[in-house]
Amino acid sequence: MVDYLILGSGLSALSFAALMAKSGKKVKLLEAHQYPGGYGHTFSQGKKYRFNAQLHYVWNCGQGQPVYQILKKLGLHKEIEFIKLNPLGYDRMRMPGYELDIPYDYDLLGHRLCALFPRDKQNIQNFLTEIQLIGEAIVKFDSSKGALHMVSHLGTFSRLLKYHRATLQQVFDAFSLPLEAQTLLALQWVDFLLPPNKLSIIAWVALFTGYGRGAYYPAGHFEQVIGALEKIILDNGGEIFYESKVIDFLMEGKRVTGVVSEQMKTPFSQNQHHGKNIICNFDPKKAAEMIGMKKFSKRVRKLLNYEYSPSNFMAYCAVEGLDLRQLGFGGSNLFHSSEVDLNKSFHRMYQLGDYSEPSFAITTPSLHTKTPGSCPEGQQIIEFLTVADYHRFKDLRISSRQLYNQKKEEILDRIIDITEKNYIPNLRKHLVYKMTGSPTTSERFCGSPVGNSYGSNLTPENMGFSRLDHKSSLDNFFFCNASSGYAGFAGTFRTGARLYEVLSGDSAFA
Ligand SMILES: Cc1cc2nc3c(=O)[nH]c(=O)nc-3n(C[C@H](O)[C@H](O)[C@H](O)COP(=O)(O)OP(=O)(O)OC[C@H]3O[C@@H](n4cnc5c(N)ncnc54)[C@H](O)[C@@H]3O)c2cc1C
Repeated sequence: MVDYLILGSGLSALSFAALMAKSGKKVKLLEAHQYPGGYGHTFSQGKKYRFNAQLHYVWNCGQGQPVYQILKKLGLHKEIEFIKLNPLGYDRMRMPGYELDIPYDYDLLGHRLCALFPRDKQNIQNFLTEIQLIGEAIVKFDSSKGALHMVSHLGTFSRLLKYHRATLQQVFDAFSLPLEAQTLLALQWVDFLLPPNKLSIIAWVALFTGYGRGAYYPAGHFEQVIGALEKIILDNGGEIFYESKVIDFLMEGKRVTGVVSEQMKTPFSQNQHHGKNIICNFDPKKAAEMIGMKKFSKRVRKLLNYEYSPSNFMAYCAVEGLDLRQLGFGGSNLFHSSEVDLNKSFHRMYQLGDYSEPSFAITTPSLHTKTPGSCPEGQQIIEFLTVADYHRFKDLRISSRQLYNQKKEEILDRIIDITEKNYIPNLRKHLVYKMTGSPTTSERFCGSPVGNSYGSNLTPENMGFSRLDHKSSLDNFFFCNASSGYAGFAGTFRTGARLYEVLSGDSAFA
């Protein structure tokens, strides 16, 4: 019987499984999809293109930082190289009348913001100082070694206590930042799929200061990272079964002894798998519902009662006959808002389904690295991302495939109109490939309930002490997913590594 039966092959599962396999434990992974990586998987399209499903850029990957240290423990730190995005502007924020490039240097950021809003200089400086202090507290908290360490750093942690129930909007208001400055700072809202009035300030600062320490893209694209983790698992005697969907759990009292899986290509062909410990990488709430909520303790049931993060609209495109680098792309992402108030803009798109004045992100993965492989020579990949409501798309898909496709087309059309007008003249003429994904696409290919993007919603209610962790209250069953740790490439890498530390007693960081 294997030591760890792992359900899913998302990033937290892969980091956990690679560490365990390397340490000599027997691991077996069951993955519903045909590719590894969950949201981080790479898929082929039309023979010519390779797209990563969701990942765009990542943090905590520089030398000495957590992801690097985990890769070092696995002996992969030399093989997997991360390229740092433009130090003078890794995120380019754009809205009518305003432009701000976000650099790594906070002094330079302060200088740029104060030049735009000279009357608000003091408030801007105070805000930037405060978020750096919150960011330092998050890093210390993240690496804290138990209660004693926390007591000796009470001053630092009191800042987290002070803010843990606050939204980004509340902190913007407390520092009286002008609305335009708020929007320029929060335009990477797409990285959370939440607007300032819903987003946890702790989540925002973790990401903002995380990217501030270095925003990265893997030199060999994300599939190299996923492939290297998969290889470590297999080279160390582990097994991965693809297109194997878990459909039921086998229980003996409070122990999960195994699962039943179904082959995706041959329905009704079922297999049983057993393990000494069961690690659940797919959504914890979905797994608990399959097992039966009553089997879980009252506390865990309460923590499982989270709201899901909103879903998204993605467009995967390729252009030919123009060099996007000459238009300022490459080494950065661009975030656009058509209106000044991001809360209103989000409401309009998400609640009302109105994309006439959208806010969205533009990323250009093939320009971040010289490694070819994602598109034919002479072409460049360009992707667009924004929020989308699951129920709207699900209803359309069920009622009429034509209307569903029309809605996707309508959103992309509007985004292209705006992009042509502001950033890439004649974009349509150069588009040689386009494909769109909706919330139901995420549900179908990544098994995410209601197509959620980041697991449990990144509101204050789901952060801090009210956040689920690996403990399920069942004897040998552990959660290992964005919702039981933290979302994002670095967050989930760490979630898997943390669980490895808990179950092995060994450090996951070289
Ligand atoms: C639009 C979008 C953009 C993003 N951009 C970024 C970014 O730029 N940078 C960043 O750091 N993060 C980004 N993220 C977040 C990041 O991709 C995720 O937080 C992370 O990949 C989640 O990993 P996970 O371990 O929780 O597992 P998941 O990715 O949720 O994987 C779970 C796995 O379980 C499998 N599964 C589900 N049900 C079953 C079943 N019944 N049986 C077997 N297998 C099953 C699924 O197929 C999947 O492979 C983005 C996410 C989205 C949606």
